[in-house]
Amino acid sequence: MNTFKELALPDDVLNNLSSLGYTQMTPIQSASIPVILEQKDIIAKAKTGSGKTLAFALPLILKLKEKQHHPQALIIVPTRELCEQIAGQCKEIARYKSDVKVVTLYGGTSLTQQVASLEKGADILVGTPGRLLDHFSRETIHLGEIKTLILDEADRMLDMGFADDILKIVSNLPKQRQTLLFSATYPENIDKLTKIILKNPQEIKIDEAIKKIAIEEHVYKVDNKDKALITTLQHYQPSLALVFCNTKIKTTEVSQMLHEKGFDVATLNGDLEQFERQEMLLQFANGSLPVLVATDLAARGLDIEAIDLVINYDTPMKTEDYTHRIGRTGRADKSGLAITLCDEYGLRKLNEIQPDLKTEDIDNLRPNKNFYLQGSVATICIDGGKRKKVRAGDILGTLCKDIGIEPKNIGKINVYDKNSYVAIDKSVIQKAFNGLKDGKIKNKKLRVWWLD
Ligand code: ADP
Ligand code: MG
Repeated sequence: MNTFKELALPDDVLNNLSSLGYTQMTPIQSASIPVILEQKDIIAKAKTGSGKTLAFALPLILKLKEKQHHPQALIIVPTRELCEQIAGQCKEIARYKSDVKVVTLYGGTSLTQQVASLEKGADILVGTPGRLLDHFSRETIHLGEIKTLILDEADRMLDMGFADDILKIVSNLPKQRQTLLFSATYPENIDKLTKIILKNPQEIKIDEAIKKIAIEEHVYKVDNKDKALITTLQHYQPSLALVFCNTKIKTTEVSQMLHEKGFDVATLNGDLEQFERQEMLLQFANGSLPVLVATDLAARGLDIEAIDLVINYDTPMKTEDYTHRIGRTGRADKSGLAITLCDEYGLRKLNEIQPDLKTEDIDNLRPNKNFYLQGSVATICIDGGKRKKVRAGDILGTLCKDIGIEPKNIGKINVYDKNSYVAIDKSVIQKAFNGLKDGKIKNKKLRVWWLD
């Protein structure tokens, strides 16, 4: 089975899928969706970027009953960023249904606001274990009608020490439910969890050999990692580069170093406030800050199509971390490039986790010393979002019609609950900024500011 059509789904479902660019199923989708539709529990393993989200989200949305007042599906994931991404994808897939409510529940944001969203009636909950448990113990979520439980990146949640939290939440779910586990990697110790929470699960593994591996990997032995990082960026000249460090403090140092050299850099680590995490990721994804230096927080699940280079500034500690980090490039069958920079210690570590990788000489690279990865766009933030009924089209309208910015100079527009963000070509950003500051969006005067 290869196309969504062959699943014999209603026309409105198929039309919506094709409007989103989904016509052919990926191998994991064609292997797992029919089994999920038969209401079986599954453990699915398929490589990063192979379309696992849609594999669980589509059957889940097909199964949703409309106008129920309690959540019917619970998706548990390890990071806040992944919550947002998966919730966004669920909303897109559910567009053909009227009024499917997807609520995200994660830490670092106001509990009261989450409770307010829950009270309006949620169909799908997407949350991190800690915050879900918080809501559960405050009795602010009702889990009695959950029909589907999904754990995405389950092994990562175990690594992070969330096993007990997950078990506590799961033990309060109805026994009559379907449970689905998805990841690219499964370590041995996951058995303990799967035995308790899944019922006769069918294992679905997509043999990686079916598809040719689209990620090219190189390892360089280096003395000075800072210098080597710049050489790598200046040789490969990517359009979006993701740099991984092993610690939060290192991400800050490396970002600072790159910034001083003239690169436009974002940083992502768990020490940042939630709004900063969101703004950093957004500025990276929209190209304003085309280098992102991050901890393993960014290693799981994040789907940013245009990442063409992943660099391990620090050697990851485990094979799984290596797989997930490099899996941020080469998404959906695009090719990608992954570089690991190893000092003496890093090389020993890498030999343990990826013994087949061969070391190359970094002196063979030909860096262009005039290349500094800089954003051709910058981001303007607008003090109004979904709650003020602002839509992307309203912002586009004001920019094009009222201010006279050409559409080709307008990049990604992201509308969130409170704020909206728009990427604008730097050549016209002053004009756009002044225009927005003095003008109106949807007949409302809104505050605007520039992110840097
Ligand atoms: P995974 O969870 O396996 O790492 P994702 O679910 O994040 O991968 O999907 C990776 C990318 O592939 C996403 O951008 C998604 O929109 C795209 N994608 C998923 N399924 C399809 C499909 N059937 N056809 C085209 N693109 C797809
Ligand atoms: Mg995923």
